[in-house]
Formats: sequence, C-alpha cells, structure tokens
Amino acid sequence: MTAGTAQDSARLLAALAAAAEDRIVFDLTGIEERYEALRRELPGVDVRFAMKACPVDEVLACLAGKGAGVDGASPRELEQALRAGVPVGRTHYGNTVKSDRDIADAHRLGVRDFATDSLEDVAAIAAHAPGARVFCRLATSGEGALWGLSNKFGCSPEDAVRIMEAARERGLVPSGLSVHVGSQQMTADAWRSAVECLADVLAVLRRRGIVLSHVNLGGGLPALGYLDRFGTPLDPPLDKIFAVIREGMRHLRKAHGQDLQFVLEPGRHLVADHGAIRTHVARLAKRRGPDGERQYWLYLACGKFNGLYELDALQYRLVFPTHPEAALVPAVVAGPTCDSDDAYPQEHGLVHVPKDLASGDPVWVLSSGAYAISYTTQGFNGFDPLPYAFTREERS
Ligand SMILES: *Cc1c(COP(=O)(O)O)cnc(C)c1O
Repeated sequence: MTAGTAQDSARLLAALAAAAEDRIVFDLTGIEERYEALRRELPGVDVRFAMKACPVDEVLACLAGKGAGVDGASPRELEQALRAGVPVGRTHYGNTVKSDRDIADAHRLGVRDFATDSLEDVAAIAAHAPGARVFCRLATSGEGALWGLSNKFGCSPEDAVRIMEAARERGLVPSGLSVHVGSQQMTADAWRSAVECLADVLAVLRRRGIVLSHVNLGGGLPALGYLDRFGTPLDPPLDKIFAVIREGMRHLRKAHGQDLQFVLEPGRHLVADHGAIRTHVARLAKRRGPDGERQYWLYLACGKFNGLYELDALQYRLVFPTHPEAALVPAVVAGPTCDSDDAYPQEHGLVHVPKDLASGDPVWVLSSGAYAISYTTQGFNGFDPLPYAFTREERS
C-alpha cells in the first residue's frame, strides 16, 4: 500500500456491520496509526490536531495519548482539549478571529500562543494576553484545494512584517508564521508556493531584527478516501506532498537555522478515513423532474445536517451491505430534511445504487469521519445528531 491509498480497516467495517441502528463509528486505532504514519513521514514536526475536524473527547484523548497537540479556535475548544489530556503548552489559539473576551479566557486557561493577521488583533492580544507569543498567518490562494479558505484569513507579506513589528512594540513575542493552503489540498505545489512566501517574509523580518522560532504549515493534508463530484476517487498525491514539505523544511532551516521548529495542524487527514456512518435508506423513489424526465432519488436518513455536510463538494463512498450483487440504477443521493440543499447538487454525477433498495436497508458512508460531528445541527427537522460509537484494536 502506498501512503496515498485509502484503507478501510476490517475493524471499522466490522463495527458498521454490527450496528443495528444508525451511528457514526470512529476507529481509534486507525486514527492513532494515521498520526504515527504522519510523524514518520515528517520527523520532528510538532503535530497539533485541528480539533474542529472531530471535536470528540475519545478522539482527542487517543491523540493526546500519542503526544499530539491541539489547534483550537475558541476557549471552549481549548478547554475541551485540556480536559482530554492535551498539555496546555501543546495547544495554541489558531483562530485569527477572536473577541477581547475570547483572548482573556484562553489566556486564563494558560494558552500562550496565538495566531493573528491584523494590527487590531495584535493590540487586543497585547491587552488581554500580555507577553504572549504570536504567529502571523499569511494569506494563500487556496488553489488546488476543495475548500480554499482564502479571503477570510491571512495577510500579505508586507502586512505580516508590520504586524510582527507591532507585536514586538507591544511587548508580545513574535514567534512564528503560519499558512493554511486550503482544506483537502490536492496539489503538492500549494505547499511549495507557501514555503517560498514564508522564506521571503522570514528573511525580511530577520533583517529587521525579528528572528522567529517556528513555522506553522497549517492543515490541508488530504483525506484519502473521497470521491470527486462525479464519483471518481480523488486519489491525492500524498507521497509527493510529504516530499515537498520535507524539502521545504530543509530549505527553510538552511536559510534560517537548524533550530527552526515546524508545526502542522492536520484536521481531516487524521480522522476522515477512520470514521464512517451507518445510516439507512429512507426511500428510493422515481420522480418526474421539471424537465419531465423521470429520475431515481435515493433519500438517506443522513444528510447535510446530520453528518454529510460536505456533500456539496464531493461524493462519499457508499456501501449497500445487504445488496452486494444487485442490479444498479443511477440516482441522485439526498438527505432526509426539507432543505433542498440537503442533496448532491445538480452538477454532481449520479450515483449507481441497487434498484431494489427498501426503506430501512442499511447504508454505510465511508471516509466520513471529518467535519461530521462539528457540522451537525441540533436536530434540524427533528433528525437527531448521530450517536457515536468507537472501535479499537483489542490489546492482549
Ligand atoms: C480548519 C483548520 C485546520 C485544519 O484543516 P484541515 O483541512 O482539516 O486539515 C488547520 N488549521 C486551521 C487554522 C484551521 O482553521
């Protein structure tokens, strides 16, 4: 198996098969193994899990047990991470958007590292977390990613220099630079360009007497088991991405000292392929659309508002365990709510599903462990959030 292949663990499939009711199952051993694989690929990198991808106590605890830190985006998230056993020194406040109160609350929790991208935010950190370390987020294009995350976050290289100088003037410690190349980034080039930009800003800052201790290469590492909008495996070039990151680290250390530290904030990469949903068929129906054409629709009990939020940009792998050899028909897949966005968009390809699916038949949604819990509503239309279940390797 290459690093870039999706692998559904027998444990996870067995847990899905054993589930008589709908649930989301996390394979904790799979998550630990993915973390360890990442550490092997990028030795010496400080991995801080972007917990919004899976804010589940058991998942945080298993990663904390392996030594992972956490990238938190609010005092509540950071508090949850600390409760799960992450040492406060291995956390940072990675959100550039925060109120005065958020900063003060995080500071009270003991958090001493804050992301920033504006002079206003630096002034607020200086006031409410005096003496803290700050790292400045540089904007990226988001090109090559399924979700770009550009625009709202990060600043230009010129502004980064101004912001870090302002931080120093206000008694903060300018400690690093960060980027996020966009979520589910599919190209190694995104990291190559990010490193070039980081190198330039590090050099300018050094000339102004600001020597940074770390570079945070953010999240964006892909999940392996998604299909694109037309149903073809996305197949991200993970080995190449790791090679480019290693090369980038070598390059930056050569220019800025061997003691330059690296941080990574993977979210979906650690959890997506190790979580899966057991749901069921609400109905397979054939309806005439506005164009007069008849079309199959597969309505699942699970959709955009209770586990499959990202169905607007990808297709999930579906398994129909009770119909392994059935005749298939092309269908639009949709969730159960009264919201028309709760469906694969028109532009998506159709999904081939067994023709004789009956209401209640189980359906497994693979590689759905990331951003499922965090984007679940409080029972929109009365469709409750999925209960969690866990599986892990039995240790003798
Ligand atoms: C969401 C987020 C991440 C994780 O992104 P993934 O694409 O899931 O890896 C990392 N860092 C920050 C600051 C984020 O907001």
